[in-house]
Amino acid sequence: MTAQNEAEENQNQALPANYAPLQLEAEIREFWIKNDTRNKLESVEKNAKGILGYVEGPPTLNGIPHIGHARGRVMKDIRYRWKTMQGYYMPFWAGWDCQGLPVELEVEKLLGVRNKRESIEKFGMERFIEECKKAIMRYHKMWLEADNMLGVFINQDKAYWTYKDQYIEREWKYLKAAWEQNLLEEGHYVVAYCPGCQTSLSSAEVGYEGSYKEVEDPSLYFKFKIKGTKNEFFLIWTTMPFTIITDTMLAVQPNAEYVKVRVDQEIWIMVRQRVEPVMAELEIARYEITESMSGKSLEGTAYEYPLKDIVPKQGENETKHSLVHKVIGEDFVDVDTATGVVHLSPGNGEDDFWAAQRRGVPIYAPFDDEVKFTNDAGIFTGVFARDADMLVVEELRNHNAFVKVQKVKHEYPTCWRSHHKLVWLARKEYFLRTDKINSKVLEAAEKIEYFFEEPKNRFLGFLKEGKPWCISRERIWGTPLPMWICEKCGNKRLIASKMELVESAQETVPENFELHKPWVDKITVKCDKCRGIMRREDFVLDTWHNSGAAPYARFTDEEFGKFIPTDFLTEGIDQTRGWANSLLLEHIILTGKPAGPYRAFLFQGLTQDAKGRKMSKSLGNVVETSKLLEKNSADLCRFYMMRKCSPIDFMNFDMQELNRRPYQVLSTLYHLSRFFLQNATFDEFKAEVYTLDWAFKAAKLQPVDLWLLSKLQDKIEEYTIKLDRCEFNGAVAVLDDFVIETLSRLYVPMIRKELWTDEPETFERRQTVYSLLHHTLKTVTMLFNPVTPYLSEALYQKIYRQLEPSLPESVNLAAWPNVDEKIRNQNLEEQFDVLLKVVSIAYAARNQGKLKRRWPLSKVIVVAPEKIMQSLKTLEALLLELTNVKAVDYAVVVPEYVGGENWVSSQEGDITVFISGKRDEKLLGEGIMRDLARRVQALRKEMGFVPTEVLESAHIAELDTESMGLLEPYLVEMADLVRARKVYLQKSRSEVEADWHLSELDGKKIFINIH
Ligand SMILES: [Zn+2]
Ligand SMILES: [Zn+2]
Repeated sequence: MTAQNEAEENQNQALPANYAPLQLEAEIREFWIKNDTRNKLESVEKNAKGILGYVEGPPTLNGIPHIGHARGRVMKDIRYRWKTMQGYYMPFWAGWDCQGLPVELEVEKLLGVRNKRESIEKFGMERFIEECKKAIMRYHKMWLEADNMLGVFINQDKAYWTYKDQYIEREWKYLKAAWEQNLLEEGHYVVAYCPGCQTSLSSAEVGYEGSYKEVEDPSLYFKFKIKGTKNEFFLIWTTMPFTIITDTMLAVQPNAEYVKVRVDQEIWIMVRQRVEPVMAELEIARYEITESMSGKSLEGTAYEYPLKDIVPKQGENETKHSLVHKVIGEDFVDVDTATGVVHLSPGNGEDDFWAAQRRGVPIYAPFDDEVKFTNDAGIFTGVFARDADMLVVEELRNHNAFVKVQKVKHEYPTCWRSHHKLVWLARKEYFLRTDKINSKVLEAAEKIEYFFEEPKNRFLGFLKEGKPWCISRERIWGTPLPMWICEKCGNKRLIASKMELVESAQETVPENFELHKPWVDKITVKCDKCRGIMRREDFVLDTWHNSGAAPYARFTDEEFGKFIPTDFLTEGIDQTRGWANSLLLEHIILTGKPAGPYRAFLFQGLTQDAKGRKMSKSLGNVVETSKLLEKNSADLCRFYMMRKCSPIDFMNFDMQELNRRPYQVLSTLYHLSRFFLQNATFDEFKAEVYTLDWAFKAAKLQPVDLWLLSKLQDKIEEYTIKLDRCEFNGAVAVLDDFVIETLSRLYVPMIRKELWTDEPETFERRQTVYSLLHHTLKTVTMLFNPVTPYLSEALYQKIYRQLEPSLPESVNLAAWPNVDEKIRNQNLEEQFDVLLKVVSIAYAARNQGKLKRRWPLSKVIVVAPEKIMQSLKTLEALLLELTNVKAVDYAVVVPEYVGGENWVSSQEGDITVFISGKRDEKLLGEGIMRDLARRVQALRKEMGFVPTEVLESAHIAELDTESMGLLEPYLVEMADLVRARKVYLQKSRSEVEADWHLSELDGKKIFINIH
């Protein structure tokens, strides 16, 4: 190393006077890269005391990482760093969710096309797939950057990608397991379909947070004439007039009372209890109930479907089944709303569909992929379903079936992605019959630890619904459904590996072959039943199936055995319907056993803006991680996000708060550490010699030291327990309290003056204090590491590894602090509690008498029960010092002599403290002298004077006149204390040409010069 390098190196080691986290974090980031620290953590597997599995919940590479993501990633990182320090190995490896609709929609936008059909026509599938890959790589870069800035120590080199062939092949194994257990089925079902995205959605997706939106729809009353009558009608209501095109039956509630209502020349049939409100709504004042009947008696009644002339297929439908356009009885008919007569469109509604299925009534669903009516819908051919609403109303008018139309605002499910109103459609789909294994799913879910009741109930509640899982999607960029079906005989074959597929292929497999559309669609295989041609079913898989396959698909068989089930996972609360769900279902299908792939799952609350609003592009309030961290410290953000609220709470992220308490805590830790380092360096403290053991043996420990050590044990225990329970806010509060209250406000002020001297006689005592500060601050630095890894690494490198070069090379490789029961002292802690309480009462008394804490006073009297006094007596020296008085008296009752006006007092509970308020000029002068002497001592050290060196002189300038007068008699004593030949007082700095150092006394500026 050259001299210059050495100088630079030394400079890097130093802790600058100001806590400048951005600079420090950049430096540590470099340190980690230079030392390959992240990868070295992989090597702990060899000596690990245990292995904890992990599967990364893969972020979708379709959005810019924002603060909500950051919060979750920090929780993961905390657990990783903490468990690693505890000696466990965890495969904390990244993973990326790459496929699916969001990516496709973005590429469509980029290519400037409106939908799937257009993109294929204009660009072809190969190009489309290439664009999808490019799109995810753009986001991947941003995620790497955000993780890097945030200090998330996830292993990026070992990331899994859900679109890679080897992943897809292993995902197919889940389907194979389902197929073999008869859990994978094709069928017509009514599914929620998004006309914008042109694909069906799973019921989990329909229930997403925020997918229900207030929308305006027509509120239409219409009437169907009863066959064979002249003027009798069923009165019906709908908000989706387009479904009248696919009307198939009417349903009534069999157990309800229905009536005939005369309105003008017509008779309308409806449920009795709704007559009044409906007539009011229709503004019909004159009506009369003429007859009553049960719902049951209406069953089988045929009605004239009014639009047969313009939808000829509806006439044909009547010939296919005798129940078409007749009334049936169904319990699901709600008689508390509308008219109690429901029109059924099995092609457009789930209840309707099942009502038809149960009776064998054919499903009439004349829609194409864009939810436009097909040729089977007569004059409506080519019209988009929801655009047909008003056309239908017009036609009802023309066909004497119209009653009244208004507008209604109601909550209606929209697509979580594109926000189109969803349409329910009967389609051919593939399903995982998860309803059949629901009891296993619930059994598995009950065994999982969720840490908090509320998210647990939400998750279990959702799982209880136990609906079949529609896994087929009519899209391009996804895992292909590996199902080949024979054109001739309908025989099906599930091919769950690339090798099997290549071997069975009838054509030569091209070189650029990958397990995606369109390549995989070009492969046909021969039917082993009839020698016919088998082609692939044109579906890709739900992207939740894709990511839910991660526990098996991202590992090798060996790793799967080692890392699954994982002991812990965490994701956002929205994942109750997402990843947490698909992981569980797929694992149970794969293994056939009622157990999940994770033993514990923490659902995190979502993150909102400072005002509690959801973060969204449209509001412009999204806080992007990288942008935030360009100007703000990662440690502060991490500390803030964990400290602010419970992990399950919705967090309102307020950037203003970063620089308040979080800054105070971290900067206090920084300055305490720097205070220790400076003093220890000055006294040539040797960490390997002056250990805690040495301090115990040398018997130089004071009660205050033992108290600090005992408190530290409490905090280690409390903090670790809270981390274990995922009470991160409570855990961080423990550190916060220890640094600010215990260390900074109590311990250091109590020992500080012992370090101000540099006398050889007190050398051992000073080394004792250093050994204690060293032990305590090093321990605290390690406890902070999971939350604030940059600050911890910086202090560890710049202080602790300098003092003990034999320490592991990164704080992340250091061992987690354990509680040492031997140095725990409950009794002493209780004595200190009493002492600190009395001191705070004494301060209150001083406040009342306007007596500055700095003023030494002659006497304090503590009036308290015997037990408290006994406890105080053992710590009397500290009591005198902290209250800054010369003597203490104890009493059980208030002594008579405190009646005079020279006493001030304050009381709390059974303790009263009296302080003599008499100003004693001698004491005041001595007090000022001692204060100034300490400042001079500190300056001596700062300027590097060796302890034995005698100063030429010390100058104090710009003290107020009163203080100067009080101090005058003590100048000789002061000169002796600070080892100067003489101390001078100056009214103004200008009286002496010197290098003045700013200091303060009672909040006023004073200046000191020594030479
Ligand atoms: Zn959509
Ligand atoms: Zn066949």
